[in-house]
Amino acid sequence: MVMDLKHSHSVKLSDEHVMPLLGLGTAAPEEVPKSKAREATKVAIDVGYRHVDAAYVYQNEEEVVQALREKIADGTVKREDLFYTTKLWATFFRPELVRPALERSLKKLQLDYVDLFLIHVPVAMKPGEEIVPKDAHGKIIFDEVDLCTTWEALEKCKDAGLTKSIGVSNFNHKQLEMILNKPGLKYKPVCNQVECHPYLNQSKLLDFCRSKDIVLVAYGALGSDSDKEWVTKDSPVLLKDPALNAIAGKHRRTPAQVALRYQLQRGVVVLAKSFNEKRIKENFQVFDFQLTPEDMETLDGLNRNIRYFEDKLFYSHLNYPFLEEY
Ligand code: NAP
Repeated sequence: MVMDLKHSHSVKLSDEHVMPLLGLGTAAPEEVPKSKAREATKVAIDVGYRHVDAAYVYQNEEEVVQALREKIADGTVKREDLFYTTKLWATFFRPELVRPALERSLKKLQLDYVDLFLIHVPVAMKPGEEIVPKDAHGKIIFDEVDLCTTWEALEKCKDAGLTKSIGVSNFNHKQLEMILNKPGLKYKPVCNQVECHPYLNQSKLLDFCRSKDIVLVAYGALGSDSDKEWVTKDSPVLLKDPALNAIAGKHRRTPAQVALRYQLQRGVVVLAKSFNEKRIKENFQVFDFQLTPEDMETLDGLNRNIRYFEDKLFYSHLNYPFLEEY
């Protein structure tokens, strides 16, 4: 019997679709050849990953989806076995731009639908082809868009069958509440994808999301990669944390495996980016061991509100999400 890897380790979303608990992250610094994303995605599918997290702004979606198509063509998976996420970038938040943006992506990617479509950040920028539009002085040109109207446009994309599920990313609890309290809400966000790891464990946001049946999806769960230009420098390196390493040693696992397992045991769906075959495999070996309640308590105790992704570019926007406590 072939094991059903999509459903064996997964969570049911509020809209009844199923999201695998571990996803492959695909964001990489610009200098990384795009072909690496394709190779890594193929390895991941062979290893058993069924959830792939992508975004328009990562500029490697074509390679990622090409890998998925190749794995479908060689019989390893069927399209319905996969959970593919993409994200609406900040220059497409005006409601009339949402569906065309998704349709354009689907056409380019030769996909009929995505599994999950997220509002990438709660901060809108000037519409256009530039990813980060700037004025002559190098200042970002923001846009003012009522995100409730963006959300309504996402709801229409779901109704049109262009995406199975819809959600948000980098929203604080007040911004989630704004959507949840929107008059005439048709679908609530199935998830909020946010930075989450033992140094920023998001326990209050997690409690809030749980109370609303919103899945918290963790990015940067391994402490991300300090080489990335958008990551805050000089922060302590998560995977070198002595307590995390001690727990890993005790279980004969790696710190990365413990950091991922930590999220699974607290009901958080977790993303792990690696373009390295050995680490892609390593990161998938997290379903066959258990952290003790004491381990979990120790890991909870590492929280120190360190944000690797402060997104300081967006700081001056009214909707900058990270000034709220959670
Ligand atoms: P991450 O998953 O925390 O960490 C990735 C880094 O850890 C990479 O440098 C990777 O390098 C290394 N790594 C992977 N496995 C390892 C292991 N077993 N041992 C040691 N090092 C390991 O970082 P992330 O890419 O920032 O976040 C994950 C994904 O979340 C992204 O790729 C993206 O899909 C998503 N994301 C979303 C947002 C958002 O705003 N919604 C923001 C950031 C990220 P190698 O590749 O060399 O293994």
